[in-house]
Amino acid sequence: MATEDIIYDVIVVGAGIEGSATAYQLAKRGQSTLLLEQFPLPHCRGSSHGQTRITRRAYPQAIYSAMMGQSFDEWAILEKESGEKLYRNCGTLVVSPPPMLGLVERGLKVNKAPYRSLTVPELKSEFPNITLPDDYVALYDYQGGILHADKSLIAFQDQFKKYGGTLRDGEQVNDVIPGDIVTLKTTTGNLFKGRNIILALGPYTNNLLAKTGLQLPLKPIRVPVLYWKEKVAGMYSSDKFPCYIDRTGSEGVSIYGLPALEYPGLVKMCLHDGPVVDPNKREVADVSWVRDRMMKYVAQTFPWLDPVPAIEETCIYTNSPDTHLFLDRHPKYENIIIAAGFSGHGFKLAPLVGKILSDLVQGKTPEYDMDWFKISRFDKGGENPSSKL
Ligand SMILES: Cc1cc2nc3c(=O)[nH]c(=O)nc-3n(C[C@H](O)[C@H](O)[C@H](O)COP(=O)(O)OP(=O)(O)OC[C@H]3O[C@@H](n4cnc5c(N)ncnc54)[C@H](O)[C@@H]3O)c2cc1C
Repeated sequence: MATEDIIYDVIVVGAGIEGSATAYQLAKRGQSTLLLEQFPLPHCRGSSHGQTRITRRAYPQAIYSAMMGQSFDEWAILEKESGEKLYRNCGTLVVSPPPMLGLVERGLKVNKAPYRSLTVPELKSEFPNITLPDDYVALYDYQGGILHADKSLIAFQDQFKKYGGTLRDGEQVNDVIPGDIVTLKTTTGNLFKGRNIILALGPYTNNLLAKTGLQLPLKPIRVPVLYWKEKVAGMYSSDKFPCYIDRTGSEGVSIYGLPALEYPGLVKMCLHDGPVVDPNKREVADVSWVRDRMMKYVAQTFPWLDPVPAIEETCIYTNSPDTHLFLDRHPKYENIIIAAGFSGHGFKLAPLVGKILSDLVQGKTPEYDMDWFKISRFDKGGENPSSKL
């Protein structure tokens, strides 16, 4: 049968973690679903590759702490269905000068997430491998830990196929023809038809959205993923060092790290920032300033790490102006739904993103306040939901 003779209930474009989690959820709900990916899988040209991501309940916006409660449950379901260990519970330590942690603590409290506060003397005695300024405080998020990223992506895609979904990689969608039945054209010359379309395109979002007359305020940024060698083996293993977030680490920008796990004796520690790039030409960006800031931070804060990165990899964030997601219908075309702007924190939320987008497809009202994620929130005169903290 020619590809255009099949009409799918839903076509999801983009097999990163958000598109894969959504396709999985839709197939599980009995929707005939096609998942299209431009690159042969697996690939490292988007945002979802690599071995690990941090997960946590600790967020300065209570809505995300609440969403993460449900997301943890969904991760557990995926682990069970796939038989793969995807989550390692080593805790997440969030550190900062005191005023910055008030909102995080409130979100944890309101959502009954298990945590405890630590003063600097407590921090110093429990984590002698971290040196922080004396005016710092910390919160320890007990549910925090590590998600095995590559394994998670494969688990979603495999389970999607088990539920009857069709995955086609090497199919770049280059045109969208709206209608009650939307037609997608790909660079291989194929046509695909669906009653609903979900675009989960990561840093490439605006390239395809242009075909629908829409552009979102998104900035793809290149983030160097830096690994630092332990001076003494085991000083930062997961029994001595949890996942780590310094909310004001370098010139007010967050720094995050994970225990030595992916590469023996190497700790992943990165700046939550980088230069704006075209995702197709990411190599040309200058990231030396990121490396320099991180070398200074590591030298000051982690006395048992060699302050020169041993390995550098590349990933891309797709930042929205307020760092919140876009999970919404296309303003002109009801049956085209967009998931974008994950701003460097979307991995842990993916199972729930999949549920929310599937609800939108099925005409159900998601449980969460969707005003946070509306495309129109930046329209002139509109109230930005960040003000509803
Ligand atoms: C270094 C780094 C560290 C991070 N750490 C964390 C963390 O600790 N915790 C956390 O929760 N999150 C973290 N994140 C963020 C998280 O990884 C991202 O939010 C998430 O991976 C975004 O997934 P996505 O599916 O939106 O994008 P992507 O993974 O980029 O997927 C989009 C896909 O769409 C495909 N595509 C695009 N255009 C087309 C087209 N026209 N046709 C077909 N296919 C197309 C792309 O090829 C790509 O595969 C981190 C990100 C980075 C880069």
